[in-house]
Amino acid sequence: MNTVELILKKRRGGCLTREELHYLIDGYCNETIPDYQMSAWCMAVCFQGMTPEESRDLTEIMAASGEQADLSLIPGPKVDKHSTGGVGDKTSLVIGPLVAAAGVPVCKMSGRGLGHTGGTIDKMESIPGLRTDLSPERLMDQVRRIGLGIAGQTLGMVPADKRLYALRDVTGTVDSAPLIAASIMSKKLAGGADAIVLDVKVGDGAFLKTIDEARRLAQLMVEIGHGAGRKTLALLTTMDQPLGWAVGNALEIREAIDTLRGKGPTDLLQVSLALGGRMVYLAGIAQTPEAGEALLREKLEQGEGLRRLEMMIEAQGGDVQALHDTALLPQAAVRREVRSSVSGYVRAIRTEDVGRIAMRLGAGRMVKEDRIDPAVGLLLYKKIGDSVAVGDIIGEIHGENSAAVEQAAADLQASLTIQSEACAPLPIVIDEISH
Ligand code: URA
Repeated sequence: MNTVELILKKRRGGCLTREELHYLIDGYCNETIPDYQMSAWCMAVCFQGMTPEESRDLTEIMAASGEQADLSLIPGPKVDKHSTGGVGDKTSLVIGPLVAAAGVPVCKMSGRGLGHTGGTIDKMESIPGLRTDLSPERLMDQVRRIGLGIAGQTLGMVPADKRLYALRDVTGTVDSAPLIAASIMSKKLAGGADAIVLDVKVGDGAFLKTIDEARRLAQLMVEIGHGAGRKTLALLTTMDQPLGWAVGNALEIREAIDTLRGKGPTDLLQVSLALGGRMVYLAGIAQTPEAGEALLREKLEQGEGLRRLEMMIEAQGGDVQALHDTALLPQAAVRREVRSSVSGYVRAIRTEDVGRIAMRLGAGRMVKEDRIDPAVGLLLYKKIGDSVAVGDIIGEIHGENSAAVEQAAADLQASLTIQSEACAPLPIVIDEISH
């Protein structure tokens, strides 16, 4: 087989066989196929797409590219969760502790930031001392002890996605439904959970901007999961505005902690309960998703989610004091409030731009080798439909120098469309897709 021919075949709209996909993925993993050829093939997929069979084959080949977790030593049904990526999406840090507190073990492998979106592992690493590079044995042992562990993908697990994810991040090849589906579902299948809840983001700040595209992605992933014998369902949730207020690593950790204290933003809590409630339901602990949500709300009110987060931070070597005093989290050198220069109602938020503002401040990566700054980012307090008056504080910028902060403040103002007519708030959970 010849790599150039496979790139050309996809570029011309052809369909690759399982053997051809194997050749590409194996070659990329053992470094006989270089980054530049793999990125050309990814770009061809972005333009030409894949058939459902190709997507399924690619997912299975990627899932089998390394070790696969055996969670059978952890008692009870295991349920995993994954988001397709958004701006301000810190739901895993709220859901994991609440679901664990409800008695469902959560053994989760999470990723780093991708494109303009953040990643749970980068966020967690802003907690001083906290380790995310847990061996599968250590992660499993932790989940057996405290019911909760969130770790980065180990080198041995789904190496194909580890390499492809980093490559797609810097080659403009993230926003392709079959590549997203294979990336997410290969990790979920290798992760070994019995059931999977997917958060498919849709809107300006998501990789897929239209409801039709997002629904197709959700259906594709639900079918792949189901075909592999895992109970799988997906929620379509809005990304036409950032989730919560905070965008940036340590700022998002602080917001997740506040949410577990009952003082977080409503939209973040709503999405977290909707997803978490379904995890508890799929695990058989609740009779309906709604009963699952009610159970998680109870755990939240009893402070059990916060306690579980504390246990996880401690088990992973992090400074638990930072949970009680968030001033111990990394702090940016310069902070500045952003005040509105106009009045009216928020009609639209260019959410991808908001993600990019945070990236330019240093919260995300422009190239693979970039180190992120855990302290920087922004807070945006306004949601679509909110009223604003001249001089109102609409947000806050945290940066490493005044020039960067001034630029970000101007860009954040510009990302909002404010008009004089009132408009309705956005629905947060748009749809549910199951088999
Ligand atoms: N999350 C992933 O794990 N992979 C993608 O491709 C997009 C979001």
